[in-house]
This record gives sequence, structure tokens and C-alpha cells, in this order.
Amino acid sequence: MYGYGLGYYGLDWTVLLLFAGMILSLAVSARMKSTFAKYSRIPSASQMTGAQTAQRILNAAGIYDVTIVPIRGQLTDHYDPGKKQLALSEPVYASRSLAAIGVAAHECGHAIQHAREYAPLNIRSALVPVANLGSSLSWPIFLAGFIFSIRPLLTLGILLFTAAVLFQLVTLPVEFNASSRALQMLESTGIMGSTEAGGARKVLSAAAMTYVAALAASILQLLRLLILAGGRDRD
Ligand SMILES: [Zn+2]
Repeated sequence: MYGYGLGYYGLDWTVLLLFAGMILSLAVSARMKSTFAKYSRIPSASQMTGAQTAQRILNAAGIYDVTIVPIRGQLTDHYDPGKKQLALSEPVYASRSLAAIGVAAHECGHAIQHAREYAPLNIRSALVPVANLGSSLSWPIFLAGFIFSIRPLLTLGILLFTAAVLFQLVTLPVEFNASSRALQMLESTGIMGSTEAGGARKVLSAAAMTYVAALAASILQLLRLLILAGGRDRD
């Protein structure tokens, strides 16, 4: 055991990897919230709400079978490919701010990806069950392997966690692509001029960084699992 035991001498040093990931995620999400708040106070020249923007963009992209609905919460905006539903959080749905229009356009980006059968989106959707399994079972299985020194369980736990990390990796191109489609549509439809689009771009970049930080935090966790498993082998 000699210091490798989880909880045996309190926390082992690898927990620092976990903390580093948490601090990074918190910092990036705080920055995203403040950027969103800043551009939520700037009204757009078009005077369009998030919902009107979404409708205009979808129609300009030739999409008429997606419904736009308001949902509760903040930053809960998403596109549901199963229901073909674009859900905008209440502050985004009715707001005429640069931030709201940027977020609404981003969700349209996902609807357009779906309509055009954008490959990374399909891969991501296919990975959802694997990723859910990975994130819920990896730790219990790894811990069981760690406590009882069962090598195959350690390996299985690490593989499951790796599946969850891969899912986060595939999420990145999907998110970046949705934002670039959004900005392109905002300009080509004339909803925003290039100066205003600069504000929307900042909101979307800050949001994209939260996915990068989440991936980095998961990679640090994976590293931690590998180090713990390696230490267990040497015992
Ligand atoms: Zn997105």
C-alpha cells in the first residue's frame, strides 16, 4: 500500500490532477458566464429575438421541419435531433441581445449539421450510450479493481473512462463547426453586420472553451487512473 491506497493515508498526490482540472473548468465557466452577461446587455441592431433569429436562419438554410420552443433555465439551450426541436432557454428565446442571438444561431448550427448529415455529429450521437456507460461505470469498476487488486477490472475501468474521453473529443469539432456555421449564417442573412458578429463570436468562443476545459479535465482524470493503476501493479 505505502501511500497508494485510496483513502488509506488520506488523499494521494494524484488527486492534484483532479483539482487542476476542476480549477480549470471553474475558471473557464466563470469567464463564459461573464462574457455572456456582458453581451446580454448589448441590444442587436436587427431588434430580432433569439427565437426570431433561429426561425430566420433555419428557413434560410431550407429547414422547415424543426420547431423552436422555449425551455426553463439559463444556458440550457440545445438542439434535440430526435424530436427535431430547437430548445432555447427563456432568456435567449425572448431577448434581442447579441448574446441571445449568438446562442440561438449556434443551436441552428446543430440543426443544420443534422439536416446536412455532418459526420462528426452522427459519430457523436452514436457514442452517446457508450459515453454514458463509461462515465457512470468506469469509477466503480476501477475502484473495485484497485481495492481487490484485480488487474482486468482496472483495465476495464480505464477503457470505459477512455470511451467517455473520446466522446468529449468528438464533441469539439461538432461545437466549433456549429459556431462557425452560426456566424456565417448571421452575416449571410444580414441579421448581424461584421461588428456585431464580433460580439457574438466572443460569446460563442467562450462557450466553446468550456468544452475544451472539460476535455482537458477528463484527460487529467484519465492520467490519474493510469498512474494509480501503474502504482497498484508495482505493489
Ligand atoms: Zn452546441
